[in-house]
Amino acid sequence: MKIVLVAGTRPEVIKLAPVRAAALSHPNVCVEWIATGQHTTLADQAMEMFTLRPDRRLALDWDGSSLTSLTGALVSELGAALADAKPDMVVVQGDTASAFSGAAAAHLNRIPVAHVEAGLRSGDFANPFPEEGFRRLITPIADLNFAPTRDAAKNLRNEGIARGKVFVTGNTVIDAVLEIAKQDRVPEVLSRAKPGERLVLVTTHRRENWGEGVSNICSAIRALRSAYNDIRFILPAHLNPRVRDTVAAELAGEDRIEVIEPLAYPDFIAVLKNCTLVLSDSGGVQEEAPSFRIPVLVLRERTERMEAVKAGTAKLVGTDRETIVREASRLLGDETRRRAMMRSGNPFGDGKSSERIVREIAKFCRVTLAEPANAAGAINPVGAAASARA
Ligand code: UDP
Repeated sequence: MKIVLVAGTRPEVIKLAPVRAAALSHPNVCVEWIATGQHTTLADQAMEMFTLRPDRRLALDWDGSSLTSLTGALVSELGAALADAKPDMVVVQGDTASAFSGAAAAHLNRIPVAHVEAGLRSGDFANPFPEEGFRRLITPIADLNFAPTRDAAKNLRNEGIARGKVFVTGNTVIDAVLEIAKQDRVPEVLSRAKPGERLVLVTTHRRENWGEGVSNICSAIRALRSAYNDIRFILPAHLNPRVRDTVAAELAGEDRIEVIEPLAYPDFIAVLKNCTLVLSDSGGVQEEAPSFRIPVLVLRERTERMEAVKAGTAKLVGTDRETIVREASRLLGDETRRRAMMRSGNPFGDGKSSERIVREIAKFCRVTLAEPANAAGAINPVGAAASARA
């Protein structure tokens, strides 16, 4: 069985690396990893952390001008790559231009499509844009939909997707995060914290928050820093200039507010594990934080990941400055309240999603998987070994 994994951005790399490892643990599975080039620096940094070298890199002819020129170039380049690779299945992840283009290019080449992290819905095409549209467009052409949770599977069935095409697998980001967390790193940014200081991790990059939203978030951070003299903020700034410029203008040189370069995945997870609170508009971070029982205030008006909100480990606060300050203060100023958000485990997965996905793909392809040489059914350590057997 030969599968192609398509990944263009940091979260796709993080969430597909464990699928690659699980697939390669079976001696009769060939894997080809295509790096689309949608993002280069962040995706490359993530691949490096999984000791992963792409089998193919697209020479993307894109001038950075628009989503239409990006998507057009991706469909065209992926179409040619898939026609050449001739896999039994193309696997795409999530809701990016690369995921949509990978699914479209596979469909047009009459190659079956599997969608990892299928069924997330905000119910609003403008929020998140363009992600809600991309993931909805993948659904009807996917032969296998791997829903991370029951709620996501329910969304798909409500849209009329046949039961036999929907599988609840858990989210593969939990496979990744649990494996990476074993590294137990102490990144430099952690060693700069003074004894007794509490850390608040902040990430922001969503398109809906560019401009006013990011500016409000920065202003809230300054207010909270002034209100609590034992808090240190750590903000790894996303590389997108629309985010970076605002963050630099608002926060550069501020005491106890560390604006730093994007952290390598194991370093980011080390900071996450050691922080008191997370403020984030990221999808992946909402999913990862509950693994370490760290409360998250979600800097978005709505989230398609309501499981953590329902479990009480996350709260939607949006990007209004006063609301962020009020909600963060409720937790930073009241340890009992903060601890109440730390009771539940992770509703997004158990760390075994990738193996479930590989088994369903094999069933679809009518292939009997050769069991891994190390232990039956075990997932190889992420990033361990295994060059692609394409
Ligand atoms: N992440 C990272 N380094 C950082 C910030 C985030 O490795 O400095 C990881 C994080 O753990 C998560 C993923 O990147 O797995 C989230 O990416 P992002 O927020 O860019 O995208 P989203 O999940 O919102 O699609």
